[in-house]
Amino acid sequence: MKISFPHMGYSYIAFKWLVENLGHECIVPPEPSKRTLDLGVRYSPEFACIPFKILTGTYLEVAEQGAELIITSGGMGPSRAAYYWVMHQYLLDDLGKDVEVMAFEPPLCDVKDFWKKLRRLRKTGGLSVKEFIQALKVAWTKINALDDVEILSHQVRPLEIKRGETTRHLWKALDYIDQANTIPEIIDAREEGIKLLQSTEMDMSRNPLKVGIIGEIYVVLEPAANHYLQIMLGEMGVETDRSIYLTSYTRKNTIVNLEGDIFSMAQPYLNEAPIGGHGVNSIGETVLYAQNGFDGVVQLAPFACIPEIVAKSIVPSVSRDFDIPVLTLFIDEQTGKAGIQTRLEAFIDLLERKREQKERKKIERLVI
Ligand code: SF4
Repeated sequence: MKISFPHMGYSYIAFKWLVENLGHECIVPPEPSKRTLDLGVRYSPEFACIPFKILTGTYLEVAEQGAELIITSGGMGPSRAAYYWVMHQYLLDDLGKDVEVMAFEPPLCDVKDFWKKLRRLRKTGGLSVKEFIQALKVAWTKINALDDVEILSHQVRPLEIKRGETTRHLWKALDYIDQANTIPEIIDAREEGIKLLQSTEMDMSRNPLKVGIIGEIYVVLEPAANHYLQIMLGEMGVETDRSIYLTSYTRKNTIVNLEGDIFSMAQPYLNEAPIGGHGVNSIGETVLYAQNGFDGVVQLAPFACIPEIVAKSIVPSVSRDFDIPVLTLFIDEQTGKAGIQTRLEAFIDLLERKREQKERKKIERLVI
């Protein structure tokens, strides 16, 4: 079967390996481009949010390349995202595309359905249960390795001396992981990638501002959807920590471990969970970033995304209580890179002044 899936950051490397090693042909989704968005805007309902439109464009592009099955995620709770795969299926059918959309719902939602879909992928690929489980384990190790090198790149980039060197090293590190086929090979590739990133020429005397990135999962995870915001901030000399990684719910080694406490942190501000999407997370994560000494937070919100609009209306109280500036960027098809860059520059300026004021006050207190 020719299988494809949505493009989300660098995860396509692991999913490509998985699809191929489950005995199928992988149609690697192209990185979302202007064409992807144009297709998405043309064929999606006008009211749909930007992740839906980008996915529409991606699905049309992979259908052109012959994809027969698109695997995506469903969802539970009051989010439109849970129904998007159904809408995409209608849309593709209407356009005469012979492609099936298959959504994996969270296993707790419907265990039987989850296993039935996994079994179908295994059987059509001709794998034994043992081989299937092994392939899933290798793919998971790959996803972890991909996240590890990416996280490190966001710490190294603000210190780099030669602009762009970290990004070049990151791509090489991703390539090492892409070439690895077994768990020991992936572990070695990860080590090599980390060493390469650490070899970037750095100015260790810098003290970068720290900014947390929160918001809706797709625009946070897909750099093309947020105009490569983390790379942009890194090149402005800012260290970033993203609240969401594909492995973030099992890992403990991001700069800040945001797990567990998010909902209790959000509760004083929003006692009405769930509100869908990552709205509650955005509130709780702002509190946690403030408590972990971050200088500011950037909230990424698709235009007309209700959960993030709710969060945005509450975030000013959090910002006031914890003295942490928050910049909300609404993203839609009209958003341009230059506009985002200008707003980020102004925000970074504000954070720098705030930090200087704090330092000055500290010194004044010492003198007195
Ligand atoms: S969470 Fe927001 S962006 Fe995501 S599907 Fe729901 S409304 Fe759209």
